Amino acid sequence: MARRVTILGATGSIGQNTIDLIRRDPEGYDVAALTGASNIAQLASDAIELRAEVAVTARDDLLEDLRDALAGSGVEAAAGAAAVIEAATRPADWTMSAIVGAAGLAPGYAALEQGKTLALANKESLVCAGHLMLETARTHGTEILPVDSEHSAVFQALIGEDIASVERIIITASGGAFRDWTLEKLESATLAQASEHPNWDMGQRITIDSASMFNKAMEVIETREFFGVRPEQIEVLVHPQSLIHALVGFNDGALMAHVGPPDMRHAIGFALHHPARRALPVERLDLAAIGTFEFRAPDHARWPALRLARETMAAGGMMGAVFNAAKETALDGFIAGKIGFTRMAQVVEGTLEAMDRDRGLIDAKMTLDNVTQVDHVARKCAREAIAKRAG
Ligand code: NDP
Ligand code: MG
Repeated sequence: MARRVTILGATGSIGQNTIDLIRRDPEGYDVAALTGASNIAQLASDAIELRAEVAVTARDDLLEDLRDALAGSGVEAAAGAAAVIEAATRPADWTMSAIVGAAGLAPGYAALEQGKTLALANKESLVCAGHLMLETARTHGTEILPVDSEHSAVFQALIGEDIASVERIIITASGGAFRDWTLEKLESATLAQASEHPNWDMGQRITIDSASMFNKAMEVIETREFFGVRPEQIEVLVHPQSLIHALVGFNDGALMAHVGPPDMRHAIGFALHHPARRALPVERLDLAAIGTFEFRAPDHARWPALRLARETMAAGGMMGAVFNAAKETALDGFIAGKIGFTRMAQVVEGTLEAMDRDRGLIDAKMTLDNVTQVDHVARKCAREAIAKRAG
């Protein structure tokens, strides 16, 4: 029987890779909803081809454009943030959460009420509200499967294992576009340079986050939330080839490594077919031709993001939402040309310090409303820091 699937963030890099897999098996899937934001042409053409029930743009102002693009197709059109959430609540057996940023939290959370499967690419949901997401999933009997390549790798290395026998989890980092740059050179890094990833083809925001290590910093917090290990059990290892995605170290000294090509269709396909493994259209690695795997310790002086993630975890409460909001705002500032590359970490650090003084807000009960409130206040604080630095 065909499985009903919904893709939140269908027009993005993860969304398009998900569609690539679904398109290969047209009989296997019924598409409930596809959502996007600005890319109406892509959203409409995919929705028509896959005969989606509804196509939703997060942008209210683009409803007419979407209606025009879908005219005569029988696909329903909707627009706005509330419509994206409504689409996420329509019955589906499998939902991909691949909206970028904190905007993905509420739709992903809504999808948890299905009691089915949520494939989670939107790491921001776990960084901002890991406890809430996991508790809600437990209450509704929904399975969350990680799609981030490192977390999919850890998940796979843990199959059949007891988490109590895990000593450490090592997630790898390519080092991004600026792996070998000096701190001095990093200060003048441009947007174009930060937007080129040596190994992975991803959306612009995560590509820049890879160059600044904020992506890995987010993933350290994501690892803590998802696998429930202590922060000191999580290590980051620079591995320029991006072929080993993570390693799990057990109490008998064994390290189980997950090796695979840098192609997100592996992790997406694993989550799509879980618990089965099915053939996937990804490269089979020729290890003899590759020859060597390199490793090195991350340089904390050049990448303060990693230290900031540790401080965020130590601070507790809803500091994860502060970390993410400050990081997103700093990234907006860098993309807009308001601050330089290395200033991003300073904005995040300043925001964490300022927000830590308001523990009443940070230590309130973690609900969707309170996380949203923390997100708003932290963004405002980060914008002020950017205005000061830009002025
Ligand atoms: P993209 O920027 O390529 O795509 C983002 C998607 O979100 C698009 O469909 C976009 O629509 C939509 N979108 C943007 N803003 C909003 C909004 N305010 N409300 C609703 N939808 C919105 O991102 P990626 O695919 O690279 O990343 C998606 C998520 O997956 C992120 O959380 C990222 O960290 C994570 N991830 C990505 C990986 C990758 O390889 N790309 C690897 C691991 C994790 P539109 O394009 O139409 O404007
Ligand atoms: Mg990753």
